[in-house]
Amino acid sequence: MALSSSKRRSRYRVLAVSDKVEPRIYGPHIRHIVGDIHFIASCGDLPYYYLDYIVSSLDVPFFYVHGNHDRPEHRADKSILYEPRGGVNLHKTIRHFDGLLLAGLEGSHRYNNNPRYQYTQSEMWMLALSLIPGLLLNRIVYGRYLDVLITHSPPYGIHDGRDRPHIGFRALLALMRWFRPSYLLHGHQHVYSTKEITQTRYFDTEIINVYPYRILDLVFSEP
Ligand SMILES: [Zn+2]
Repeated sequence: MALSSSKRRSRYRVLAVSDKVEPRIYGPHIRHIVGDIHFIASCGDLPYYYLDYIVSSLDVPFFYVHGNHDRPEHRADKSILYEPRGGVNLHKTIRHFDGLLLAGLEGSHRYNNNPRYQYTQSEMWMLALSLIPGLLLNRIVYGRYLDVLITHSPPYGIHDGRDRPHIGFRALLALMRWFRPSYLLHGHQHVYSTKEITQTRYFDTEIINVYPYRILDLVFSEP
């Protein structure tokens, strides 16, 4: 975590992506469609070539967490890409970016034996608790704990599903109650109908399902 005196802006424009390659932005008009943004946030389950295209086209900072379907990607030159290029993996990490306090937690609820990016509720509790020292330090240094939490899965009972892979995490509810981030951005839960709820207020947090992409104005009332 970089300690910086830069002040939080009142508004950040963000491209948030998740779960599905969206032809509208995976094409030559991406800059026109997205416009000026401060940063890109990926909530996971996206091929690295797609993220690479977005990041190199828009040329702004890029923060991400992994989704349960993320795998190493075999490139045409026979190299293997283990992480998206040009970005910061926010998992279990707190970052200070342009006055904004960011943190992330990857993965989904565990549903098979794949070793990566799946967690039981208890494991996610441990990951969430590991953020607490950094969040407390934020409070001392910046006067607040956290601005934006970026996750793959939704919180338990909010935008989540009832099948095992799509049950949300209870620890995310606690993080929001205790540390009051202004936003939680997530993916994982695909949206097939305009009737599905994709934005929910929980205490002081706007929870937004960004599937498959959203251009968001993150607004902050106080500096
Ligand atoms: Zn997923």
